[in-house]
Amino acid sequence: MKLIEHYINGEKFSGVSKRTSKVFNPATGEQSAQVKLANTEDVNKAIESAQKAFPSWSNKPPLHRARVMFKFKDLIEKNYDELTKLIVSEHGKVYEDAKGSLTRGLEVVEYACGIPQMLKGEFTENVGTNVDSWSLRQPLGVCAGITPFNFPAMVPMWMFPMAIACGNTFVLKPSEKDPSCSMRLAELLLDAGLPEGVFNVVNGDKEAVDALINNKDVVAISFVGSTPIAKYIYENCAKNEKRVQALGGAKNHCVVMPDCDLDQAVNGLMGAAYGSAGERCMAQSVAVAVGNIGDKLVENLSKKVEALKIGPGMDKNSEMGPLVTKDHLEKVKNYVDIGEKEGAKLVVDGRKLKLQGYENGYYMGGCLFDNVKKNMKIYKEEIFGPVLSVIRAKDFDEALNLVNDHEFGNGVSIFTRDGNAGRTFSSKAKIGMVGINIPIPVPMAFHSFGGWKRSLFGDQHMHGPEGVRFYTKLKTITSRWPSGFSSNPDFVMPTMK
Ligand code: NAD
Repeated sequence: MKLIEHYINGEKFSGVSKRTSKVFNPATGEQSAQVKLANTEDVNKAIESAQKAFPSWSNKPPLHRARVMFKFKDLIEKNYDELTKLIVSEHGKVYEDAKGSLTRGLEVVEYACGIPQMLKGEFTENVGTNVDSWSLRQPLGVCAGITPFNFPAMVPMWMFPMAIACGNTFVLKPSEKDPSCSMRLAELLLDAGLPEGVFNVVNGDKEAVDALINNKDVVAISFVGSTPIAKYIYENCAKNEKRVQALGGAKNHCVVMPDCDLDQAVNGLMGAAYGSAGERCMAQSVAVAVGNIGDKLVENLSKKVEALKIGPGMDKNSEMGPLVTKDHLEKVKNYVDIGEKEGAKLVVDGRKLKLQGYENGYYMGGCLFDNVKKNMKIYKEEIFGPVLSVIRAKDFDEALNLVNDHEFGNGVSIFTRDGNAGRTFSSKAKIGMVGINIPIPVPMAFHSFGGWKRSLFGDQHMHGPEGVRFYTKLKTITSRWPSGFSSNPDFVMPTMK
């Protein structure tokens, strides 16, 4: 049986903890590996290694760090297929979707290649007579990332390329459900020329997370996962005087206006609700049918949900793969039971699906609810599976209020042909990421990703300009030099030394 250990100081590290957890292939239900669960001593070892690497790495010119990122980008491109297959084999999502998520991570690496430009700072000559002032951004020290199961490559890559390019060192604690991709990325970083100890991976669960939170040498923590754990991370990092950004769960609405291009809205919703089996923080799990469009919307959706091609992620014909674990599959099916009991109309029921040849895989069909109400558990809570709820709203204002009253504020979309409705909606929605005729409005790497309300605890969003702000601290220097300065002339083209 494959054993997944930790990656510390540029090599695999076994650690002293004896605890392990099982990793499964969701497509077959077979165990594929055993992963080590770090204890405090193991985590402290990783932090120590990152702490030791920090002075030298943070002192490297930004252009040097950018060149490592360029090489890393090149290596990811060369190993696309292998990395994609690792995602599919442990998460279960279909190959092309996994590849797309890797691309989204790669784009952050590409953005991080521009770090010299982003760290240039600001200068004002003569803030006073013969006095100059400038502001610069310096790295923080050892940063840590704690990531969820649903994007084993992309979410870690929202964090560490930015942190490292800014001059920090990093300890990543990936999800124990699908840890292999992070281990491979650590090897590629080393091959790209990253010095040992700058990037470390510890595998584990709550014990490892608590060890990161409690170690005073970790100065900043980035977290992505469910809201209760995000809140726990936020509170405890603040208590321990750490910088923190903790992204939580979501319940993303798609407002379907009566004037929209219905085919476009239905196709958008299908991908956004059932892609990656609904295991996306930007999945659309609520369709708000405005005015008289509800019946037609449900009719068109139901045909497509029934026709969804479900199968293993490596099968080219599959549109939707299995869920990540047996427990998660049961949890999602349980929500569907609850929805029925609450009185919502189950238009398409995917609970009974069994795939021939894959009887032990974690599959279910897409589910579609109509007549969902605001007070129902299936509306209030994140299900994180292939379950779409249709809720009816009499007009634009009622739809907007639904969106704004919900506890989560990650993403939202509106489908309309009315420019005024689109513009008003994007302005008034209390949501971090808004799409107008765009079903999954995930910002590109050079913008920043993050939700509002209980979808993000902390101030800074991830990657893009906010990523640079999160992983650096600002210093402003004011100076006066009464006398001049001279040096010998140098006649060759100056280059970085
Ligand atoms: P999770 O909260 O269970 O786990 C996330 C991480 O926290 C994992 O590394 C896990 O090991 C660790 N963890 C779990 N329980 C812990 C505990 N009690 N104490 C300390 N650490 C703990 O989330 P998940 O099930 O892996 O991922 C799904 C969730 O992530 C969904 O809620 C989804 O919306 C959310 N998510 C959010 C975003 C976003 O950008 N907002 C992106 C992806 C996923």
